[in-house]
Parts: sequence; structure tokens; C-alpha cells
Amino acid sequence: NPFKGSLDPAKLRDCIARHGAEKIPFVRMEASTNLIGGQPFSIANMREIRGICDEFGIMLVLDASLIGENAYFIKMREDEFKDSSCADILKTMCGLADLVYFSARKVSSSRGGGICTNDHSIAKKMEHLVPLFEGFLTYGGISVREIEAMAVGLYETTDLTVISQSPSFIEYFIGQMVDMGIPCVTPAGGLGAHIDAGRFLPHIPQEDYPAGALAAAFFIASGVRGMERGTLSSVRDENGNDILADVELLRLAFPRRVFTLSQVKYVADRMKWLYDNRDLIGGLEFVEEPPVLRFFMGKLRAKSDWPEKLAAKYRQDFGESL
Ligand SMILES: *Cc1c(COP(=O)(O)O)cnc(C)c1O
Repeated sequence: NPFKGSLDPAKLRDCIARHGAEKIPFVRMEASTNLIGGQPFSIANMREIRGICDEFGIMLVLDASLIGENAYFIKMREDEFKDSSCADILKTMCGLADLVYFSARKVSSSRGGGICTNDHSIAKKMEHLVPLFEGFLTYGGISVREIEAMAVGLYETTDLTVISQSPSFIEYFIGQMVDMGIPCVTPAGGLGAHIDAGRFLPHIPQEDYPAGALAAAFFIASGVRGMERGTLSSVRDENGNDILADVELLRLAFPRRVFTLSQVKYVADRMKWLYDNRDLIGGLEFVEEPPVLRFFMGKLRAKSDWPEKLAAKYRQDFGESL
């Protein structure tokens, strides 16, 4: 499926019928969808969702933090837009939303972020909050220098050679994983390559955070810092039980303009070694668990001495070399 980030229109209609449109303040689409492996949606899908939102008078919000990558995939995978410029694709996507917000770190390689709308009634509703939380309306709490840098970054996002960079590295890496039989999310998405920890470590129960364990094990075997995207990134229910994630993924992010191909090859090589030694990897448990967004600041420990055993096997195979 080239567009795994697309929303299911039938499920959206069901959801509206179940809860009532008046209880739904907005529908949010994420370009590209982070937690399922940076997967894009199509403009055809966004148009359909826009239609449903119009029918029920619900606002459509676009998370544009990774919009460059989603636009790139639309150009590559959606026939109608194969000859369109990136700028036209970006404008089409933003034009379909009532409100667009983004992390400047990702979309424009600058600090801060933004909330954009050309709907005055929506802007009016938010206006009085800006001086309260950010700064006066004319600068919104960001320095002018940063806004200038953001503008440069946004222009760069219209350049195919810039926005194709990270997806091309990811596609290469995912190709290597597929060739070596290492479970991962396909097709290659934006943001990062996503290793399927559920299938990589079937012997670790979800309660022991297999994706977190894989991240720790991979750091031991390579010095590469990946990010858990699974049950650790989820929350607990009202009884204190983990809400098990639908997918347990290790994200290896490939930001643009950061890596060389030889570094990518090194990562693939160490992942192969780890896959061959996956039986040595065990689970994790929390030592310190923050009540919100626990994956950012929480501390965990191994449930046995598996990290030591993994490191010992590493030394046996590679000596002290990295
Ligand atoms: C990273 C990300 C964010 C948050 O970005 P910050 O820079 O941490 O504010 C929001 N949405 C998506 C889709 C992201 O990938």
C-alpha cells in the first residue's frame, strides 16, 4: 500500500455516527504519519476526508511537520501529481486544511514551529492566546532571525533535491533490510526506517517493551541511537495496565543533510549482526516512570543480564573495534 497514512473514510463516517459531529472539534491528518512508520497519505484521500468534514461541519487540521516527505511521496506515487512541482503539491495539501501546524525543527530545519490558517474566524479564536502563551501577535514569541531561518527552510522544502534526500536514504536502507530478511515497515516511508521489533523479537512479550529493548540492544551493538515507537510510547489505562501498541517499532531517523552513505551501510551491517544474535536480547522494565509522555524522560533497566551477554558476544566477534 503506497499510502498507509491515508484515513479510512468509512471508519471516519462510523466514528462520526457513533459520537455525533458536535462532539468532534476537528479531524487531524498527519503528513507523514509518524507512529506507523512515517507513512504518507494521498491527496485523493485528503480530498475525500475534506468532503466528509464539509458534510458534517468539522474542521480539518493538518500536522505538516513532515509535509515535505509526504509531498515527495505524492509526486512519486500518485499519478495525478507526477508532473506537479513540490510547491504546487504543498499548496494543494495546505489548501485542503482549515488549519496547518508544524514543528519547524523538521519541516524547515529551524527552531520553534507555527500554526497557520487563512480563516479569520479561526485566527480570531486563537489570537488572544498568543500574548498569553507566546509573545505579542507580530512575532509570536519567536525571534525575527528564527522566522527568517524558517522562511529559508520552507523554501527549501519546495526543492525536490532537498526533500528527496531523507526518503532516498531510507529507501536504500529498507532495501538492505528486505534483502537480508530483517523485518521492517514497507514500503519505505519518511522520517526514518522502522524495524519491526514485534517480528524481530517474538520471544519478548509486549509488556517487556520489545521495541525499547531493541533500541537498547542496537545502541550496544552499534552506538546508533534509535527511538522506540511502541508500547513504551503509549500510556497506561485507568487501572495502571499498559495499553499495548498495535505495532512495536524501532525508528532509525534519517534527517536530511546529516548522514553519508557509508554511515548508512554501517548501520545496516550492525543491524544484520544484531538480527543474527537476536535470541540474546531480553526485556526491559521501568525504574522511573513519568505520568505523562513517559518515553521522553523515563528510566528503564534490563530484566536480566542480557545487555552484558550481548556485549560479550559483540567483543567475541569484533574485539574492541567499533
Ligand atoms: C516530531 C513531530 C512533532 C513534534 O515536533 P517537535 O519539534 O518536538 O515539536 C509533531 N508532529 C509530527 C508529525 C512529528 O513528526
